[in-house]
Amino acid sequence: MTRASPRSRSPEHVSDERYRQSPLPMASAHPDPPVTPATLRTMRANRSRDTSPELALRRLLHASGLRFRVDMPLPIDRRRRADLVFTKVGLYVFVDGCFWHGCPVHFVRPKTRTDFWMSKIEGNQGRDNDTNRRLRELGHTVIRVWEHEDPVDAAELIARMYRALRDKR
Ligand SMILES: [Zn+2]
Repeated sequence: MTRASPRSRSPEHVSDERYRQSPLPMASAHPDPPVTPATLRTMRANRSRDTSPELALRRLLHASGLRFRVDMPLPIDRRRRADLVFTKVGLYVFVDGCFWHGCPVHFVRPKTRTDFWMSKIEGNQGRDNDTNRRLRELGHTVIRVWEHEDPVDAAELIARMYRALRDKR
């Protein structure tokens, strides 16, 4: 779940933002805007920011007493953001949208402008890997959950990791 709806911005969702804000999103980057009505529907359905799975996850964590920062710029690159950050223990959580991050279960290759979309999504995946590596090099812990995952399961995983890191300090 990334940030497309509401207001959480994640590094990987910068592209979402652009699509939402411009009537001709890719006009400058592509002479022939690749946005067909079907693609727009796909994009709307796949907005990642503050989508309900992410909100559900945040509510569950909050209800369990955990406190965290939301949509926080990363120390490795202020242009990238994490969806949830437990700053004291260095735990960074990303909720990845199935479309934008190429979920192995739900991602469907767009039928039009396939090369354009695939390079975009592969770019996101490459950035995700780079973000993971660089955060870990700093000694941080990274958890990525897909937006399709059960928020209860995801919250349990995150809470467990948070407690393990806290107890280790
Ligand atoms: Zn998925």
